[in-house]
Amino acid sequence: MARYIFITGGVVSSLGKGLMAASLAALLQARGYKVRIRKFDPYLNVDPGTMSPYQHGEVYVTDDGAETDLDLGHYERFTGVSARQSDNITSGRVYRDIIAKERRGDYLGATVQVIPHVTDAIKQFALADQGDHDFILCEIGGTVGDIESLPFMEAIRQLRNELEPLQTLSVHVTLVPYIAAAGELKTKPTQHSVRELASLGIKPDVLLCRAEHPIPDGERQKIANFCNVRKEAVIPALDASSIYSVPLQYHEQGLDDEVLRGFGITDANEPDLSSWDDVVDRRENPEGEVTIGVVGKYVGLQDAYKSLNEALVHGGMANRVKVNIRWIDAEVFEQAPADIAAALEPLHGILVPGGFGERGSEGKIASVRFARERSVPFFGICLGMQMACIESARLAGIDQASSTEFGETSEPVVGIITEWMSEEGVQQREEGGDLGGTMRLGAYDAKLSVNSHVSSVYGGATDISERHRHRYEVNSAYIDRLEGTGLVFSGMSPDGLLPEIVERPDHPWFVGVQFHPELKSRPFDPHPLFAGFVAAAVEQSRLV
Ligand code: GLN
Repeated sequence: MARYIFITGGVVSSLGKGLMAASLAALLQARGYKVRIRKFDPYLNVDPGTMSPYQHGEVYVTDDGAETDLDLGHYERFTGVSARQSDNITSGRVYRDIIAKERRGDYLGATVQVIPHVTDAIKQFALADQGDHDFILCEIGGTVGDIESLPFMEAIRQLRNELEPLQTLSVHVTLVPYIAAAGELKTKPTQHSVRELASLGIKPDVLLCRAEHPIPDGERQKIANFCNVRKEAVIPALDASSIYSVPLQYHEQGLDDEVLRGFGITDANEPDLSSWDDVVDRRENPEGEVTIGVVGKYVGLQDAYKSLNEALVHGGMANRVKVNIRWIDAEVFEQAPADIAAALEPLHGILVPGGFGERGSEGKIASVRFARERSVPFFGICLGMQMACIESARLAGIDQASSTEFGETSEPVVGIITEWMSEEGVQQREEGGDLGGTMRLGAYDAKLSVNSHVSSVYGGATDISERHRHRYEVNSAYIDRLEGTGLVFSGMSPDGLLPEIVERPDHPWFVGVQFHPELKSRPFDPHPLFAGFVAAAVEQSRLV
C-alpha cells in the first residue's frame, strides 16, 4: 500500500507549495521510489478551465484531457510522471458529484452533509488509483484557516487515523519573515500556523520554513520547541537561484532524510542526483544568451504562461544558453504600429503563444508578418499558429481573413468545428454551447510529412502525440490558397482533416503548431520544438 504525504501551507499564500511538493517527490524518486502527486483545490469551480489566467495562472492540460491547476505542471516537470484526471480535484467537482447523486436518490433519504459525505468523497479521491506507487503526495491548496479548505483538513485528519501508523506524514509549509527594523527573523507566524493546524487535529511531522535569510540554529530550536517537532524536522527553505536547484537545496537541508525517518524507513538508497546536478549546471553556467520576444495578451502575469516560460528555459538548457524572455503586450502594437520594428528588431526569435479572444490579435498578426519578412525565427503556438495562417491568408490577398472566434467574418480562415474524432470516437459540440470542458482537450496524434522540417526537428519521426486545448481550427478549405504563399501544412490529424502544423521551408525557422508542446517539456528532456527554436535563435544572434 502507498504511503501518503499531506502537504499544507500556512501564514500566507504563494509560498510555492507546489514546487516544494514536486521537489520532495523528485528527491524520493532519486532514491528509486515510485511517486505520484495530487492537488486538492478548495475553490468551487469544477476545474480551472473557465478561470481567467489573471486569476489563476495557466490552465495545465493532461494527456487524458483534464484542465488542471498549474502545479500539476511543476509535478510533471520535476518527476517526469504524466499527471492524470485523477490527480486534481476541486470542491466544485466534489459538490457537483454529490448533488448529482442526491438528485438521483442515491443517498436513500439520508441527510447529505459535509461530514461524512464531502469528507468521504475527498478521502476516496486520495485513496483511488494507487497503483504500485511507494509514495502519494497530496498538496492542499490555500492556507490553513481558510473556510474553504476545512473539509479537506478534516479528511486528512480522518485518513491519518484510519491508515496505518507509519503510513502517513504531514508536511506544513510556513513563512519565517525577516523584520528589517529589528534585524530579526520572526517565528511567531509559524507558531500560530501550526497551532491552527493542530486545532484541526493535524500535528505536522515536518516544517518547511520559507525564509529570505538563513535560520540560525537557535531559531530552529525555538520553532521545534513551540511547534512540537524535532529540530531536524524544521527545514529551512531559503530562496533559490532557480527553481531547478530547489531539490538539491532541500536535500542538503535534510528534507528527504527527515521524511523517510518519519515513515520509519531506515534502508533507503542514497539518492542519485546526477541529473539534477546536470540541469542546474546547464542553467547556471550558460555559454551564451539569446533574447526571445513573447507577443501575447497576459504578459502582466507570468504565471499565465508558466509552462511556456519553463519550456523556453529547457530549450536554453539544451543549447547551453541563457534565454532572456521579453514579454510584449500585443495590444501595444495596435496602438502604435510604428513601434513594431523598434520592439521586434533586437529579438533573436519571436513567439506568439496560445490565447483567447480578439484583443491583441492584429498585433500578433503584425508580429508574424515581421518575423516572416525579416527572416527572424518564428514559433506560433495554438492561437499563434492560427494568427500565422491568417497572416498568410492576407498575403494571399484574402484581406478579410479572420477567425470566427473574433466575430462574424466572410473569410473564416480559422473557424469552430462541431465534430471531430478522438480515441473515444466522435466528439461533438454545439456552437454557443457551454464553455467549460468543451474544447479539443488532451493528447491527440498527428502525422508529419516525410522530409518536412518539423519531422527533422522530431528526430525523423512522422507520428507524434501532443496535448491540445482549443475550440477553433484552421479551416482546411483554405489550405491550397495558403500553400500558394509558401506556407506548408506539414502536420495533420491522422484522418487528414485538421491542420496540426504549418511551416515555411523558405524561412530559417518558421513553425506554427495547433497544440501546446510546452506542456510536455521537461528539464531533463527539453521538447524538440523548443530546443530547435532556441537553436535557431542562437544562429540568428550570430547574424545581428
Ligand atoms: N482561442 C483559440 C481557440 O480556442 C486558441 C486557444 C489556445 O491558444 N489555447 O482555438
